Amino acid sequence: MKNKIISDLHALEIKDIIENEPLYKHTTFKVGGPALVFIEAHSFNDVTKTIDYALQYHIKYLIIGNGSNILVSDKLFQGIVISTKYLNSFELNDNYVYAMCGVNLIALAYHTAQASLSGMEFASGIPGCIGGSVFMNAGAYKKEMADIIKEVLVYDNHQLKWLDKAELAFSYRHSIFQERRDMVILAVNLELEFACKEKIMELIETRKQKRQATQPYDAFCAGSTFKNPSIDTSSWQLIDEANLRGYKINDAQVSMKHSNFIINRDRASAKDVYDLINLVKKRVQEKANITLHVEVELINFE
Ligand SMILES: Cc1cc2nc3c(=O)[nH]c(=O)nc-3n(C[C@H](O)[C@H](O)[C@H](O)COP(=O)(O)OP(=O)(O)OC[C@H]3O[C@@H](n4cnc5c(N)ncnc54)[C@H](O)[C@@H]3O)c2cc1C
Repeated sequence: MKNKIISDLHALEIKDIIENEPLYKHTTFKVGGPALVFIEAHSFNDVTKTIDYALQYHIKYLIIGNGSNILVSDKLFQGIVISTKYLNSFELNDNYVYAMCGVNLIALAYHTAQASLSGMEFASGIPGCIGGSVFMNAGAYKKEMADIIKEVLVYDNHQLKWLDKAELAFSYRHSIFQERRDMVILAVNLELEFACKEKIMELIETRKQKRQATQPYDAFCAGSTFKNPSIDTSSWQLIDEANLRGYKINDAQVSMKHSNFIINRDRASAKDVYDLINLVKKRVQEKANITLHVEVELINFE
C-alpha cells in the first residue's frame, strides 16, 4: 500500500514525500508514532490533489499545522499526513490581512502589530498556524479567531470556495470544521483595526510576561488540556481540588505551574499522556461531578 501511494503521489507531481515519518517531530507534545506517508505541501494544489487522491482510494488522511493542539497515538497512522507549514505567505492590504493556512499565528501577530494593526494581540502567545487556529477557534484573554475572521477559503467536495464568518458556526473553541472534517482550510481574510503601535506592543509584552509567569510555555505540551466547563468554572481549579497538580504517569505530568496543562517531561509516550487525561477526567468526575471535555484533539486512538 505504501509504495503504491508514494508512486501515485509522485505521478501527481507531489514532491516532498516522506515514508514512515515519526509524528512526534511534528507535535509540540513531542509524542506520536509514524505516519505511513507524510507530505509537506508547498501549494494549494499539493493539498487538493492529495485529498482528491485519498478520497478516491478511501485512504485516511490528516491535515496538520504546527501540531500544537493534537495528541497523536503511538501506533502507525495508516494513511497520509499533510503538513501545511510551508503554506505560509501573507499579505497586508489596508486593515485587511490575507494569510495562508500555514502562517504562524505568533509571527503574524507581531507583524500586524508592527503595521499598527490591532486585533491579534490575543494570538501573540498561541503557537499554532492559521488553519489549526480557525479549526479550534483559538483564543485567549476573552478574544478569539472568530473576532477577526472575515472569511475563509476552503476546499470542500472538490471545490474551492470562500465561506463567510457567519457560515462557520464559531463558539468557544469550536468551529464548523470540527463537524466537517472533510473540509480543509486553505486561507483566511482577517479584518483588523488601525491603532497605536506602541500600545499594541505594550499589551503583547504584558501578556507575554503573564504567560511566562503562569504557564509552562517552554515545556512539551499542547496548551490547555481541557475546555473550561463554563465561564465561572475553570478546569485548573477542578483539577487542583481533585489534588492532581503535579500528578505523574511515567513522564506525563499535570504541570506544577498550571494544572490544566499536561506536559511531557521528556520521554512520555502518547499512551502515558492519554492515560493521564483519562485519570484526571475520572477523578474530577468523582470529586466534583463535572465532566471535563478535552480541548486537545485526539488522533489515531480509535
Ligand atoms: C504552550 C502552548 C500554549 C497555547 N495557548 C493557547 C491559547 O492561549 N489559546 C488557545 O486557543 N490555544 C492554545 N494552545 C493550543 C494551540 O496552539 C491552538 O489550538 C492552535 O490554534 C492550534 O494550531 P495548530 O496549527 O498547531 O493546529 P494542529 O495542532 O496542527 O491541528 C489542530 C486541529 O486542527 C486541524 N487542522 C489544522 N490545520 C487545518 C487546516 N488547514 N484545515 C482543516 N483542519 C486543520 C487538525 O487536523 C487538528 O484536528 C496552546 C498550545 C501550546 C503548546
